[in-house]
Amino acid sequence: MSERKVISAILGFFLLLGGTAAARVSVMSRPPDWSRLDRFQKTITRETFARFLRDYYAPNGVAEDFIRIDSGHALIRKGAREEGFYQLDFAENETLKREVPVLWQPIKPGGLIGRKIALDPGHIGGEWAKMEERWFKIGDSPPVIEGEMALLVAEKIAKRLRAAGAIVVFVREKNEPLTPIRPKVLTEEATESLRDKGVQDIQPTYLDANDPNKQKSVQWESERLFYRLSEIRARAKRNNEVLKPDLTICIHFNAEAWGEPTLPTFVERNHLHLLVNGQYSREEIVYDDVRLEMIEKLLSHSLPTELALSEVVAQSLARATRLPPFEYPTKNAIKAPGSKYVWLRNLLANRLYRNPTLYLEPYVMNNLDTFDRIQMGDYEGTRSVRGVDRKSIFNEYADAVVEALERAESKDEH
Ligand SMILES: [Zn+2]
Repeated sequence: MSERKVISAILGFFLLLGGTAAARVSVMSRPPDWSRLDRFQKTITRETFARFLRDYYAPNGVAEDFIRIDSGHALIRKGAREEGFYQLDFAENETLKREVPVLWQPIKPGGLIGRKIALDPGHIGGEWAKMEERWFKIGDSPPVIEGEMALLVAEKIAKRLRAAGAIVVFVREKNEPLTPIRPKVLTEEATESLRDKGVQDIQPTYLDANDPNKQKSVQWESERLFYRLSEIRARAKRNNEVLKPDLTICIHFNAEAWGEPTLPTFVERNHLHLLVNGQYSREEIVYDDVRLEMIEKLLSHSLPTELALSEVVAQSLARATRLPPFEYPTKNAIKAPGSKYVWLRNLLANRLYRNPTLYLEPYVMNNLDTFDRIQMGDYEGTRSVRGVDRKSIFNEYADAVVEALERAESKDEH
C-alpha cells in the first residue's frame, strides 16, 4: 500500500468512528494505560490475532469500528481522552514471534505437581449474602447461601489438589469481602451509574428485597457496585499481583430467577455450564478500559488452556452430576466451538484475571432435586437420593473437578 493510500485508509477509519458513541470508561474505572500492551509487541501473528478476535472474543464483527487489522499490525482505537490508535505489531510468522510475557505456565490434566492453582469461591456469603442476592430460604429449613457453599466446595478441592501435589491458594478464604470499600461511600458512583443506564426517576433507598423500584435506587446500585465491581476488582488485584497462579478456578452454583428470597420460585430445570472469557458485545467494547482488557486477555494466550481445561472439567462434572447442558436464551453468550457445556461470555472476573480462568456453573439451586441435596448437607460416602446412591452435592462437585485435573488426558496420546 502506498503511503497516500495508508493515510486515506486511516482517515476513512477515523471518519467511520465519527458517528459512533463517544468513547468512555466503564463505571469505577479510569482511562486505561495503553502502554500495558507494549510488552506484547510481535508476540502474535496476524492470523492468530484475527482468528481469536473473530471466533472467540468479538464474533460478528462487533469490534470492527475499534480494531483494524492491517497486514503487519492492528490499530486499536484508544479512546476519547487519549486520541488516536495503539499500534500492535504482529510477528511475521510462528517461528519469529517473541515469547508471550506472562507469569503463568499452562497446566495440563495430569500435570499438577508444583503448579499453583487459585480458588475463587464466588460471591461473599455471611452477612452479605442477602445484599448480594445469593440467599433464599423456605419456611424453617436452613437458608441456601451460594457464597458459603462455594467456599465449602473450594476447601474440599484445595485438600484434594494439595494431595495431588499442587500448590493451592485462595482468592477469598472467609465469608467476608476482600474490598475495604463499602456501599455507603459509593453513592456518587451509584448515581452516575444509574444515569449512565438511563434510569429516569432515581430513588435514594428501597424498602426491602421485594420493592419493585429497588433497581432504580442509589442504595441498591451502590450495593451492586460494592459486591460486584469493587469486590471483583479487589479479587483481581490480589489474584494478579499477590497470588500469581498458573490457573484460577471460579466456583459457583447456578440458579434461575427465584423472585422473593423468603418465598422462592422453584424450577424444573437443572443444568451445568462453564464460562470462558469471550463474546464481547459492541456495547462492552465501546468502553476504553474493557477494550484494552479484552486485547490484553487475548494477547495473554490464556484461551487455549481455558478451552481445553474447561472441556475436561465439563465432561467430568457432567458424568458426576448427570446434569444436561445449559442453553443461554440471550445473546451475551455463545457456545465454544465444538463444546456442549462450555460457553464464551465476558464476565468481570474471567476478563480481569491475568491467568487461565475456569468458571464453573453446575446445579440450579432453586431446582427441587438440588435443593433437597443441599438440605441433606455434607456427608461422607453415599446416601440414597431418589433411589440412587450419591455423594453429598459438595463432594460430588469437588471430586469431579479434581478428577478432571488429575487425570492425564488419554485423547492426547493417539
Ligand atoms: Zn454465582
